[in-house]
Amino acid sequence: MTKSVAAAPTLDVETIRKDFPVLHQRVNGHPLVYLDNAATSQKPVQVLEAISAYYRGDNANVHRGIHELSRRATEGYEGARKRMARFLGVQDPAEIVWTRGTTEGINLVASSWGGANLKEGDEILLSVMEHHSNLVPWQIVAERTGARIRYLEIDEEGRLELDALDTLLTDRTRMVSLTQMSNALGTINPIGRIAERVHAAGALLMVDGAQGAAHGEVDLPALGADFYACSGHKMCGPTGIGLLWARRELLEAMPPYQGGGEMIRFVERDHSTFADIPHKFEAGTPNIAGAIGMAAAADYLEGVGPDRILAHEQALVRYAMERLAEIPEVRVYGPKDPSERAGVLSFTMGDAHPHDISTILDTEGVAVRAGHHCAQLVMKRYEVAATARASFYLYNTRDEVDRLIDGLATVQSIFG
Ligand code: PLP
Repeated sequence: MTKSVAAAPTLDVETIRKDFPVLHQRVNGHPLVYLDNAATSQKPVQVLEAISAYYRGDNANVHRGIHELSRRATEGYEGARKRMARFLGVQDPAEIVWTRGTTEGINLVASSWGGANLKEGDEILLSVMEHHSNLVPWQIVAERTGARIRYLEIDEEGRLELDALDTLLTDRTRMVSLTQMSNALGTINPIGRIAERVHAAGALLMVDGAQGAAHGEVDLPALGADFYACSGHKMCGPTGIGLLWARRELLEAMPPYQGGGEMIRFVERDHSTFADIPHKFEAGTPNIAGAIGMAAAADYLEGVGPDRILAHEQALVRYAMERLAEIPEVRVYGPKDPSERAGVLSFTMGDAHPHDISTILDTEGVAVRAGHHCAQLVMKRYEVAATARASFYLYNTRDEVDRLIDGLATVQSIFG
């Protein structure tokens, strides 16, 4: 994921919008403007059809059947793993572990790697920018092992204060876990530069790619992370599916995360031996249709061009920031320079509560999110209880930004 991709060619948004049936409806008497993409993205017909085709033609359980449908289901499921490996620049598909999403990927690493490797006095470095998914699993394992959590702070513009890395990275630091892109501020973090410093300190780097994988190209070998987790539903795929990537030797050294069917080799009365990676981490019947849907989403995004998507979002954010500047009560959080962020705009507006802003916008058919966005440490940093958040994706338009601004004029008229 590059920071500024302003030179990328523009998207044919009108054609793209035809692929997303859900966008073509009226909400509260107005054409829907969907600006809640950081929470979840909409799904193109290509993804819906891949899931439907699987259930209509191939549905069976994977791996254990010898019959034709099971063979096809296994091919679809394992083919999807290969597709996601290719999407992320990974050579070895066995390094891709299917999960329920980013949250489960981070829990897997915190529990399995953390449980086996952390001890009292060790340090885990996080940032106050993190989604709760990248905080709570580490708090749980820190409690269990006696490890200590330290934090990178963020500056006024929502950028990591990287100068502090020199003092925060110590010979006790074992793991650094950071988001590639903030869901609350839109900030894109310079993961490559951070990775060099983390590795020089002898620690490992986990990257939360929930937002990053959806909003720009990700080349995992170049990124420099040791662990990477992302979610299908943020990137035009279905809910309930995601993946964890780590280098083979790291995954092989980690104990299983959950026990059950599919993840074993032999089961005796008092012990079991485990399957090779990645199946060692995939206990139980997996989300086969989800994996197939996520691979179809990767096809779709690659067809459009991840860098063009990011450039499109950055252009929309630039325009939205210009328009929001027309409203004196609005305060926008996160980097001022749109090239340092992707399509997330968090803002407050005078005394209007973000929930009221969101409710009023909804009456005009504009869907935004209000709240702490599962990032309460960000809210504390800026001393606000909540923000309103408009988040853009490949199918959003400048006209929709205008609809957001028109809705905010209504908020202004109500709140004076
Ligand atoms: N990390 C970030 C930055 C997110 O935005 C999200 C979801 O909003 C998550 C983690 C959790 O993702 P999921 O709920 O798909 O597991």
